[in-house]
Amino acid sequence: MSTFELTYATMFNPPEELHTRFDAALKLVNGSLGKEYGMLINGEECFSDHKFKSTSPINTKQVLGVFQTGTAQNANDAIAAARAAFPVWSRTPWQERVRLLRKAAALMDERIFEIAAATSLEVGKNRMEALGDVAETPALIRYSCDEVERNQGFKVKMGQDPLVGYTATNYSVLKPYGVWLVISPFNFPAALTGGPTGAALVAGNTVVMKPATDTPWVVRLLAECFVAAGLPKGAVNFVTGSGSVLGKALVENPEIDGLTFTGSYDVGMGIYRQFAEGRYVRPAILELGGKNPAIVSKHGDVERAALGIVRSAFGLQGQKCSACSRVFVEAERYEQVVARVVELTQKLNIGNPTDRSVYLGPVVNASAYRDYQNFTKELKEAGTILTGGEILTEGEFAEGYFCQPTIVTDVPIEHRLWKQEMFLPITMIHKVANLDEAMQLANDVDYGLTSGFYGSKEEAQWFFDNTQAGVNYANRPQGATTGAWPGYQPFGGWKGSGSSGKNAGGHYYVQMYMHEQIQTTID
Ligand code: NAP
Ligand code: MG
Repeated sequence: MSTFELTYATMFNPPEELHTRFDAALKLVNGSLGKEYGMLINGEECFSDHKFKSTSPINTKQVLGVFQTGTAQNANDAIAAARAAFPVWSRTPWQERVRLLRKAAALMDERIFEIAAATSLEVGKNRMEALGDVAETPALIRYSCDEVERNQGFKVKMGQDPLVGYTATNYSVLKPYGVWLVISPFNFPAALTGGPTGAALVAGNTVVMKPATDTPWVVRLLAECFVAAGLPKGAVNFVTGSGSVLGKALVENPEIDGLTFTGSYDVGMGIYRQFAEGRYVRPAILELGGKNPAIVSKHGDVERAALGIVRSAFGLQGQKCSACSRVFVEAERYEQVVARVVELTQKLNIGNPTDRSVYLGPVVNASAYRDYQNFTKELKEAGTILTGGEILTEGEFAEGYFCQPTIVTDVPIEHRLWKQEMFLPITMIHKVANLDEAMQLANDVDYGLTSGFYGSKEEAQWFFDNTQAGVNYANRPQGATTGAWPGYQPFGGWKGSGSSGKNAGGHYYVQMYMHEQIQTTID
């Protein structure tokens, strides 16, 4: 395994050892389900009067863990702990911060199989997707550490201004803001909590993290790695509870100096507006939804296109912000591409996602399950379902939220579901007369996260020149619109998909967690 680097693009051919180690970890994890977990505030376990259960979408009768229903008071306590830790942590030399964050990353590596097994059970990810999510977390943290190191802590000597009779020394220094809030979504609970938390911390901020209600367990395990790395007490805090009570209290607290929210457009825009009510402007990094298109030209390779589209449409049951939910195919290739996409979709194995042979697990919760049934009903009336469209309720599917992967065509282009993120295993295909029409439709949404293209080399450059999205792929069978990895494809969105214009796991990311200070001294 030493030569194998797990990424979302390499995960299709893992070495055998990955499977044996995952199986062993799953067995251990399955043997200790249902424990109660506290919040972690100021380095202490913290309990509340009310609790909630995290259950598995594979079998909703299975209780994975019992968690604290955090209150507004808990939110304020966690923020106060982070505030108190800020002077010590922000003044800790950057070399020491890098060392401790690398230690946290190493602890995550050590626990990767255990946390991946938990991710598979709690989110319903297949084992390779689960391993990818957890492996990406230390990769993101290390990327931020490497950037701080490469830039020697972001202290830069500037030019000397031409003073007569005096000598000036000018420095530009990037410094942390203070207390940073990280609110994460259910679909990548490890990477999208750990990545921003790692960046905020290595930059010198202290952090309060709040996971989605569907995924407190994975994030608790991750929080343990941050705490065990030996950061000062209160530098990193973990609270659990609903977005509407705990999340709202965190966002409204004036002691938050900056935040990273990853989640849906509607919730994110609400938080953005709420956060703007403060006394002055504070940074808000928002990573929001997607409605990601793939375009296939008449020169495109049908096999690559079909493979890439199916992988991106149905990986993690279509619940990736980067999922391929719209496909535009030039008329000359349309019949071929559709036939092959349908054929590959029908071969996908649905079942218990912890099983090695399974590609599609359940969708995350009752609300997603209901949405699937409503959307497929609506799409049946508006167009033609070529494959899928039904929920699965028999046998091993009886207690979970299993939905067939669904390919739809003939839906009028004015239909609202061409523009709304469904976040489910449903993909819509449309025939276009030419590439300009495809690009016009592809860009005609509020989102701009990822996009994919299959065609000639010259056309690929045209695609990059015209697509309005943050992460874009040409002729990639591993995934038409999915599969970014830190250091290779830094990840972030344009337009309604993201606020910062700088991608995570890239050159310009960790700097967003710091503000610039100029230091001029006259001798
Ligand atoms: P979500 O419903 O928007 O929730 C995201 C987080 O916000 C959860 O922790 C949620 O807590 C919390 N929250 C909800 N209301 C809140 C409020 N009023 N104040 C503070 N926090 C609040 O998203 P999701 O369903 O978990 O995740 C799916 C969405 O995330 C999709 O739209 C997807 O495209 C997007 N996403 C984007 C990226 C990206 O990088 N751009 C990556 C992954 C996912 P509760 O769970 O307790 O409600
Ligand atoms: Mg759950």
